[in-house]
Amino acid sequence: MSHTAFNSHLMGDSNAWPLGKLVCVGRNYAEHAAELNNPIPEQPLLFIKPATSAVAMQEPVYLPKGVGDVHYETEIALLIGSPISKAQPAKALEAVIGVGLALDLTLRDLQTELKKLGHPWERAKAWDGACPLSSFVPVAEVKDWQELELSLAINGIEKQRGKAKQMLTPIAELLSHISQTFTLMPGDVVITGTPAGVGKLADGDQLDVQLTNLLKVTTQVVSL
Ligand code: ZN
Repeated sequence: MSHTAFNSHLMGDSNAWPLGKLVCVGRNYAEHAAELNNPIPEQPLLFIKPATSAVAMQEPVYLPKGVGDVHYETEIALLIGSPISKAQPAKALEAVIGVGLALDLTLRDLQTELKKLGHPWERAKAWDGACPLSSFVPVAEVKDWQELELSLAINGIEKQRGKAKQMLTPIAELLSHISQTFTLMPGDVVITGTPAGVGKLADGDQLDVQLTNLLKVTTQVVSL
């Protein structure tokens, strides 16, 4: 799907902005940090995926070839609707206009190599297609941020389940923290970290991804 076509689906047709940067947080759930033998960071671990890494989640998820294991990380995604810079948590939360789901696809073998070398992660995290995104539900439908719950099943077997209240840095604080360093603009997306249960994708896998009772996406994994 072309980038332009994807943009118009960010929030239905009434609120279409060009997709901006995707600001991601690593190790925001303690059990996920532990499963990869990573220490819990003292402050949120941030990285950015470019807009060119985003694809529509309901399209097939394409696995690149010859790059080792491709891991799924299911995450709550927040669509920003107004600029935020150096904002307090409550103010920062007001800038969110939609909530959705992201797959922070990761070339895990390559990331492990890059970490050992002390190199940036972009080659493992920011490639074309590395961020399948769902559409976004208007924020008015979120009754309680802390109770937002994501889940992922692969071929009918549950692999990941996590609630926003398990995050080491909660959503409002996370947005505030990010905005101290990176101005968030309308069309930017914040991806809030993955709960435990990450693993490898395989050709033909069927993914069922859900956000509370707000959103449900079924998609298929296809090898390139
Ligand atoms: Zn992630």
